[in-house]
Amino acid sequence: MRTQDIFDKLKEHGYKITPQRQEIINLMARENRHMTVEDIHGQISTRFPNLSVDTVYRNVGVLERLNMLDKTDFGDGKGRYKLVKKSGHRHHLICLKCGCSEEVDFCPLDYLDKQKIKDKKFAIQKHNFEIFGYCAQCLEKEDE
Ligand SMILES: [Zn+2]
Ligand SMILES: [Zn+2]
Repeated sequence: MRTQDIFDKLKEHGYKITPQRQEIINLMARENRHMTVEDIHGQISTRFPNLSVDTVYRNVGVLERLNMLDKTDFGDGKGRYKLVKKSGHRHHLICLKCGCSEEVDFCPLDYLDKQKIKDKKFAIQKHNFEIFGYCAQCLEKEDE
């Protein structure tokens, strides 16, 4: 999503585009990785010293409710957020070294025998699937 589309959607839903909100969205649009609320706060608080972690939480919450964020847990129990490129659910390749993440355009569920799950009388509502490893840039650096 382009930042302008995000601002438009916020306005559509009656949210004001405050300078802090704008800064949070611009930062997330620049960073090609999943960020914790603390990551976001740490980067923005230099420009907005009065910005509280709570405010970042609230803003992230708004974006999440409007389905503009992808939330992922890297396995350490912390929620990490990234602006979505498209709506719907997504899966990512996540670099263990630099933390960058890339959307993949396939869903592993499509390759599963869903009948086996149906046989268990289980109704799937959601699923998580992330692939962890090292990105091309980090691998290249290792070779040097
Ligand atoms: Zn990397
Ligand atoms: Zn999926």
